[in-house]
Amino acid sequence: MKLSARFLPSLALLVSLVIFNIYIYQLQPNANPNLTNVYFLNVGQGDATYIRTADQYNIVIDTGPSPKVSNLLNQLIPVWDRDIDLLILTHPHADHIGGASQIIDQFPIRNILLTEVDYESQLYSSLLENITRHDIKTTYALAGSNFNIGESVVKVLSPTPDILSDSDLNNTSIANLYSYHDFDIMFTGDISTKVEEVIIKNYQIPETEILKVGHHGSNTSSSEAFISYLQPKYAVISVGQNNRYNHPTESVVARFINAVIELLRTDINSNIHFSTDGSSFKLIN
Ligand SMILES: [Zn+2]
Repeated sequence: MKLSARFLPSLALLVSLVIFNIYIYQLQPNANPNLTNVYFLNVGQGDATYIRTADQYNIVIDTGPSPKVSNLLNQLIPVWDRDIDLLILTHPHADHIGGASQIIDQFPIRNILLTEVDYESQLYSSLLENITRHDIKTTYALAGSNFNIGESVVKVLSPTPDILSDSDLNNTSIANLYSYHDFDIMFTGDISTKVEEVIIKNYQIPETEILKVGHHGSNTSSSEAFISYLQPKYAVISVGQNNRYNHPTESVVARFINAVIELLRTDINSNIHFSTDGSSFKLIN
């Protein structure tokens, strides 16, 4: 049977894809592919967020402290669309770029957004070499630039050229507003209140649904002025259990509670999943 032998490999591929897809949907029973799904990933002491848009784009913002993040992404990114359209690395500290090389090795990356800072670490130089090796289109973030990814917009609010030369690397983080129609998330990396003030002064922000809390809930960040400027419905702290920095600071946690903002933490809630149609949104788990 010459003909069936020819189609046998395709049939085997089809069957394995069907089985694999069932496996994925068992892991993600609540992920409606017609909505934009946002996952704040439980990566321990660090930050990593994955956004799968309703119009089928993949965005990753920071990659946690270790290559383990790629296991989580492998469970979430659809097997038929593994291209990461935009990878944002807010700043080169290990708790934000620890899994980046692994992700670059495992997924095709269309664009990477970095900061143009001088920072020396073995992890960061080997990451930069890996980016060059994979010939990934690299853009350096500056306040004022916008990136359109299908129906989503990533608006960079910081760093300004001034802030880029700040001696505290945390302050050079890419702060950006992710918007899918009327749904907005503020990502702040590890910026301090000093940079929050610059953002407040320079930008009028629409009503923000979610704030990814700056610097893992440290008291260097999340001033009352910044919280009342954004008025988020949810605040998400990405933090490791019993971390050695004692993040988050109690007074920062109290600030959100006093402002009646629902606070979620990856050390308590594990992976945090929201979905939105661009006008309303909900917490899935
Ligand atoms: Zn950090």
